[in-house]
Amino acid sequence: MGTRKHVKSDLKSVLQAATSLHGHFGPFLTLGVRTGLVGLQELKVKQGDARLSTIVMLEYVVPISCILDGIQTSTGCTVGNTRLTWKESREIGAIFELGSAQRRIEVWVNPAVVQELKRKLAEQPPDEEIRQIGWDIAFRTDAELFLSKRWVNVLNLQCVM
Ligand SMILES: [Zn+2]
Repeated sequence: MGTRKHVKSDLKSVLQAATSLHGHFGPFLTLGVRTGLVGLQELKVKQGDARLSTIVMLEYVVPISCILDGIQTSTGCTVGNTRLTWKESREIGAIFELGSAQRRIEVWVNPAVVQELKRKLAEQPPDEEIRQIGWDIAFRTDAELFLSKRWVNVLNLQCVM
């Protein structure tokens, strides 16, 4: 585990890569990056691990769909490599699965955070303010952003879904 400063500079470089892929920086992109990082951290894998796949639950509409590019960047699971799929859902979250280890984790975004962001963006703030909201999300704690991190054994999947 590095220092907090080190973690922040890692996050910054992932956010830069996500912005480059996505075309702009904003809070839902950031939320996607953070969601992906929780998945990596909990499954103890690095970005780009070929055993990792993810299913993202979300409303497929801008700006919420921006989450997808954040998750694609931070995990390396993409539509193109077939390791990222998504499902329409009113609740926003992701399931990360590590194939060989048969382990998965669900990460759900706190709905209060989603409502807050929707409200702020509905006011159509200028780009500079959207960037500030994005950075605010970048540095909130996991406990503020996410509801639960739940281990699920693939063998028990039927019971869970
Ligand atoms: Zn976006």
